[in-house]
Amino acid sequence: MKYISNSPQETAELARTIALKLKKGSVVCLDGELGAGKTTFSAALCAALGVTEQVYSPTYTIINRYDGDLPVYHIDTYRIEDSSEMYEIGFEECLDAGICIIEWSDMIKEILPADAVRIRISKNIGIHEDYREIEVTGI
Ligand code: ADP
Ligand code: MG
Repeated sequence: MKYISNSPQETAELARTIALKLKKGSVVCLDGELGAGKTTFSAALCAALGVTEQVYSPTYTIINRYDGDLPVYHIDTYRIEDSSEMYEIGFEECLDAGICIIEWSDMIKEILPADAVRIRISKNIGIHEDYREIEVTGI
């Protein structure tokens, strides 16, 4: 399904809609170039999942864990070299324990569950600066 977003608020609204479909063990994958809106989407998703803390990009920490209605793991694979590192930092435990939100999931596509929700955000497609196309599959 393809959605159009004209603002960070509209992207957050889509995240809230998707949050309603998630349960323990759900994995949400976010891809799209730097500045596309992956973290904007993730933060809104976390909030909708009951996280009250401010959500920051986990680029340097790789995994941030938040207490929501369930544990929420916000993962950014930008700085990992290959999928095996994900096991070293406890990725498998995260999968069972709560909801995982993964930015740059393409980096670890070999180890993603087949039933993951995929979200691809495209920017710079000309209409205006805040225009994004958001492709959602697997829901
Ligand atoms: P990423 O994590 O993909 O690198 P961020 O979410 O950190 O991207 O940054 C996206 C930036 O683009 C933010 O500054 C956000 O306010 C801005 N932005 C503008 N329009 C949109 C939109 N329609 N959806 C999401 N973010 C948008
Ligand atoms: Mg980001």
